[in-house]
Formats: sequence, C-alpha cells, structure tokens
Amino acid sequence: MKVPFLNLERLHKPLNDEFSRALDQVLSSNWFVLGEQCGAFESQFSKFLKVANCIGVSNGLDALTISLKALDIGTGDEVIVPSNTYIATCLAVSNVGATPVFVEPNHATFNIDPKLIEQSITNRTKAIIPVHLFGQAVEMTEIEQLADKYAISIIEDCAQSHGATWLGKQTGSIGDCNAFSFYPGKNLGALGDGGAVTTNSIEIADKIKILRNYGSEVKYYNSIKGFNMRLDELQASFLSVKLKSLNVWTENRRVLANRYNAELNNVGDIVLPSIATGASHVYHLYVIKTKFRDALSQFLNMQGILTMIHYPIPPHLQKAYSELGFAKGDFPIAEEIANTALSLPLWPHMNTEEQSYVIDTIKTFFQ
Ligand SMILES: *Cc1c(COP(=O)(O)O)cnc(C)c1O
Repeated sequence: MKVPFLNLERLHKPLNDEFSRALDQVLSSNWFVLGEQCGAFESQFSKFLKVANCIGVSNGLDALTISLKALDIGTGDEVIVPSNTYIATCLAVSNVGATPVFVEPNHATFNIDPKLIEQSITNRTKAIIPVHLFGQAVEMTEIEQLADKYAISIIEDCAQSHGATWLGKQTGSIGDCNAFSFYPGKNLGALGDGGAVTTNSIEIADKIKILRNYGSEVKYYNSIKGFNMRLDELQASFLSVKLKSLNVWTENRRVLANRYNAELNNVGDIVLPSIATGASHVYHLYVIKTKFRDALSQFLNMQGILTMIHYPIPPHLQKAYSELGFAKGDFPIAEEIANTALSLPLWPHMNTEEQSYVIDTIKTFFQ
C-alpha cells in the first residue's frame, strides 16, 4: 500500500462540478480581479470567523507583510515571532524592514510560550506575531495582556489554523490584524495561491484595501505607496466552494488525530501532540516527536508511507538570516523540535485502512 502525505484529489473530486460552474461564471462575467467573487468570499469568510472585516489578498506571506505595513511597522522596529515558525513569518517582518525577534515555543504544544515573551520586549517592539502552528490555537490571553501593557500590536499568523479557536474565539478574530494563507495544501486552500487579512478595525480594513491595490482608492489617484496583493476572482470563487466543506473536513481531521493519539500512545519513545487548555486544534499537521525520527521516516518511506518534517531548519539557523548572527544552541527548544518532529500523513479523506497501515508500520518499527 502507498500512503501519500496529503491527497488533494479525493478532496477536490466531489467538488469538480461546482468548480466548473465557478469557472464558467467568472469567464462569462469577464471580470477577473477585485469583483463580486472576491467580495462574496470576503463576507462568507468573515462570517465564518465572526470577525468584522476580511480582505482577500494574494497569499499568506503577503497577508502578513501588508498587515505589518498597515500597522506602520518598518525600519528600526522589532517584531516578536516564534523561533520555530515557517520562514514566511520572518520574511514578512524583513519585507517591511523590521527585525524578527525570536521567542522559544513550549516544547509540548509547539506554540510560542507566552511566559517567555515579556523578557524579549524592548522599546523598539511594535508587534507580536503568534503563529497557530500545525493548527493549534496559541494561548492568547497572556499575549493580549502583554500587548495592552506595552501598547504593541498582535498579528495572528493563521496560515495553518482555519477554524481553530482560543477560548471559543476563532483564530483570526483576536489580533489587531490577522493573516491567512489559502495555499492549496492548507486546511482551506485555493486552486493556486491566495490569502486574506482579517480585522475588527474598520480603519485597518480600509487601509489594507488601499494597500493591496497600489495604494489607490480611486483609480490612478494614489494616496499611499501600495502593492499589488489582490485575491483574483477565480480563486475567490473556488474558495467559496471549498469553505462550505471546511467544518466537515476539520471534523474528519480530528477523528483521524484522535485515532493516532489512541493507537500511538506508549509506542516506543513517541511524544504525542498535546493541546493547551482553552485551545482547539484543527490538525493542519499531526506532528509527533521521537529521538529516532530520521530512521522512522526512512523506514516508513521504504514501506510506501510519506512523512514530512516541519521544519528541518529553524529560522535563526537559515542562511537567509545569517545577518542576525545566531548559532546552534541559541534556541534549543526550536532546535530540539527541528531534530525530533515528524509529521504523519493526515488529510480529511484518509481512509481507515491507510491509517491502520501507518499505525501498524510505526508499531513494527519500534518492535
Ligand atoms: C504557509 C504559511 C505561510 C505563508 O503562506 P503562503 O500562502 O504560502 O505565502 C505563512 N505562515 C505559516 C505559518 C505558513 O504555514
């Protein structure tokens, strides 16, 4: 048996007719950028999240970059990010000329440890980007208190957390300005690149709308220096089709995750993912830890099971960030995760036999 890491074919097949109708509609409208489809998806997604405003943008990295820009963050400013995030979080900070300041995650939840944030706040700190990594909501309450105390902004990185909640509140509805990715492999993915910014502030929403469209409100009149960071009509219409199934897909992911939890408990030295009290998890990724990670992934690969590592090199050790002057050992928790984490196959239409095969093969490895 072969088990891919992710199978989008099964996700999309039942929706093929709806995708075709969406394509026909956009084609016959002859309107491809910033039109009805984008507006419709924005209002559907903001309803889903119970957030006042949603602005469709080109991708997740741009959603983060434009959020920082809208909050006037730039050269000389510092932005706190987790030391074990995907590189895009850091790149957004660099894109606006600010400096990422790394704070270690909790080793059990993989999410930024709120208790370690305050010691990294300086008079240059302008924002914190909590990343709801792997689909689990960050413990937000302490971060909100720190943000109030030091008058700094919160930008949630929700690229992996569509539908996850903290104390019942949707991720993407808590921070000042929040970023989603609709990269095809994300829990809600377009059929290409896409992203969104969400905010409860109408002022920020208006600024994002201007920034994503060259800094222009009225065509050819440019009030600020902007970008071209728009969500196109076709992707917006595909996203509207897929959004209707998101809750069902999330539920399927949770069922699969619970079965992994039950079956892999006490197998070898495996550390299962753990959820903070008050947080919910949408299992964008199901990540275990084991000291035998490389051997296990190789063994699974030989048996036809594909796994991935999120992420093999933490940002502070990436060549792109050599300018920050960090070395091995500077962020030991991020490094421990990079050396021991393994993401197992999990997607909404994974069937019981496929999952049984993964579980049995892991058990065989540890015997
Ligand atoms: C995917 C991802 C992004 C970037 O999104 P893109 O749409 O690929 O640009 C940012 N942050 C995190 C945590 C991600 O997983």
